Amino acid sequence: MMQVIVIGAGAVGAATAFRLAQAGARVTVLDAGRIGGGTSGTSFAWINSANGEVPPAYHALRTASMALHRELAAEFGNPDWYHPAGGLQWMRPEQVPALEDNVRRLQARGYAAEWITRTRLLEMEPDLDPDVVGDVPVAWFPEEAWLDPVPYAGAMLRAASALGAEVRIHTRVAGMAMQGSRVTGVTLADGTTLPADTVVNCAGRWADAVAEDAGLRIPLAPTHGFLVFTPPVALAVAHLLHAPEANLRPDGAGRLMLVWNDFAAAVTADTKPDPAMPEVQAIMRSVARLIPALAGVEAEAVRIGTRPLPPDGLSIVGPVPRMEGYYVAVTHSGITLSPLLGKLAAAEITTGRPDPALAAFRPARFFN
Ligand SMILES: Cc1cc2nc3c(=O)[nH]c(=O)nc-3n(C[C@H](O)[C@H](O)[C@H](O)COP(=O)(O)OP(=O)(O)OC[C@H]3O[C@@H](n4cnc5c(N)ncnc54)[C@H](O)[C@@H]3O)c2cc1C
Repeated sequence: MMQVIVIGAGAVGAATAFRLAQAGARVTVLDAGRIGGGTSGTSFAWINSANGEVPPAYHALRTASMALHRELAAEFGNPDWYHPAGGLQWMRPEQVPALEDNVRRLQARGYAAEWITRTRLLEMEPDLDPDVVGDVPVAWFPEEAWLDPVPYAGAMLRAASALGAEVRIHTRVAGMAMQGSRVTGVTLADGTTLPADTVVNCAGRWADAVAEDAGLRIPLAPTHGFLVFTPPVALAVAHLLHAPEANLRPDGAGRLMLVWNDFAAAVTADTKPDPAMPEVQAIMRSVARLIPALAGVEAEAVRIGTRPLPPDGLSIVGPVPRMEGYYVAVTHSGITLSPLLGKLAAAEITTGRPDPALAAFRPARFFN
């Protein structure tokens, strides 16, 4: 039986471990922290392919993964970690042509994107201030969803464990065990070596730090994102909303999660997130213009997440050249992409057959 070590128990590692275990591998998952405690735990977690300008192969990957999320949710009995509510987007009048162009591009690619009236928007989202929305066209993306990534990762790992996988949290990988150019396992912080036929690097934003050797080092260009959480509020917000004032969605128990991309440029890894920050108060004032019932509501929590962003923005999936026994699955949009990447990676690792869907995303493009 093939022994595979998966480094990282985030969305990507958990989905990969599940599919590897299903494919008959003997799987050990190692995480330095807890399940979903990395970027997956600080994600807006919007399942989408809403940017009509990404390369066609990347769009195809994302939409195939959106469909797999739906299948997975059915397979897991419509779990409460998957929210297929759909997304709504509108813009200020001067930005409407850009939105129209994007919707046109998405429709040409077969993406579920349509226009709805402002009246329909206000029926779907009655808490919005009609005057603040204004008289602009509203795009509706009915197949978009969001995920609760940590319970999702937990469910994938429970399913993997039921198939014989071992999940070891609070277990940091310190380096690779090597024989010549072959990865033969991993070494742990306490000096123990765990053998494997294949080691899969799913360490997300830390993927570049797992192995020091230049031949193993995965290039990343991480950026930071800023999430703001309201306390529970008695509102009817039910969809992903992309509005000029804020991007937001429900986050369970009445809380809303806001993602603020403008401010994110000013965030560094050292920024200490605090609901009292003036920027956070500005975000709350902005969203309260759109949703008047939020007037005077203070943010309950703020989190900064670091995106595992490859230098060209595209996924890095596959074997690393000249390093046998070493496979990488690192990506931005890992919430959207995890079911598909996990499935394709597991199939490639267990059969040795490359999948053409991953041809444009190979680590080799960084290892010349
Ligand atoms: C603010 C923000 C918003 C986002 N919004 C979206 C979105 O709307 N839609 C979307 O699809 N994506 C979104 N993303 C991106 C998405 O969250 C990530 O791509 C995804 O979570 C990556 O998952 P992962 O499993 O690869 O990494 P992680 O969840 O970070 O998991 C990696 C794991 O590896 C472990 N690890 C690291 N080093 C070691 C080691 N040496 N030994 C053992 N374990 C180790 C860590 O402890 C961690 O648990 C967003 C990201 C951010 C920051």
